[in-house]
Amino acid sequence: MKLLEDRIRKDGVVKQGDILKVDSFLNHQMDVELFNQMGEEFKRLFADRPVNKILTIEASGIGIACIVAQHFHVPVVFAKKSKSVNLEGEMYTTKIESFTHKRVYDVIVAKKFLSAQDHILIIDDFLANGCAVSGLIDLIRSAGATVEGVGIAVEKGFQEGGKLIRSKGIRVESLAIVESMNPEDGSIVFRPQEN
Ligand code: 5GP
Repeated sequence: MKLLEDRIRKDGVVKQGDILKVDSFLNHQMDVELFNQMGEEFKRLFADRPVNKILTIEASGIGIACIVAQHFHVPVVFAKKSKSVNLEGEMYTTKIESFTHKRVYDVIVAKKFLSAQDHILIIDDFLANGCAVSGLIDLIRSAGATVEGVGIAVEKGFQEGGKLIRSKGIRVESLAIVESMNPEDGSIVFRPQEN
């Protein structure tokens, strides 16, 4: 999506440790008009899928997921990072290692919000090593629900997550795929996309 690539080039900051900072428009201050155009694009890309719910993970996926959901006219559920899992009977649980915080979280979704009848679109801001998305897939499978696809704002194509999730036969659509980035000069190269 050219609009998002242009914005990343303009306002994204390449940090050491393979981190792309986009906090001026994506995951701290949020450009809701941009989110709206991203939502329109995800709707176009997943138009053939019978999505009835969007699943994301707190915190930075929530804003994007909510705007995307307006285009699908479906509710959003966000998986919560929990320090203690003491309600296991009522929750689906999994573990996710945070790429940015380098720690493992227990992540939960209440059973009442995921069921075998659900057809889920996963939405998140970044795809790096794929831990967050794998954990969300785990929660969906625990509920016996169907993964209809994964919509990502920014995929870092030089990390393994995209390959990992696609190798499970799951459709992943990323609006911008960073092929390489250089913290020394701030340059970012995007993977050419067809649509
Ligand atoms: P993964 O689980 O795929 O390794 O990492 C994805 C999660 O880590 C995303 O939910 C996102 O919040 C965070 N993340 C990974 N890489 C980056 C990055 O380069 N920049 C930012 N801002 N967040 C990232």
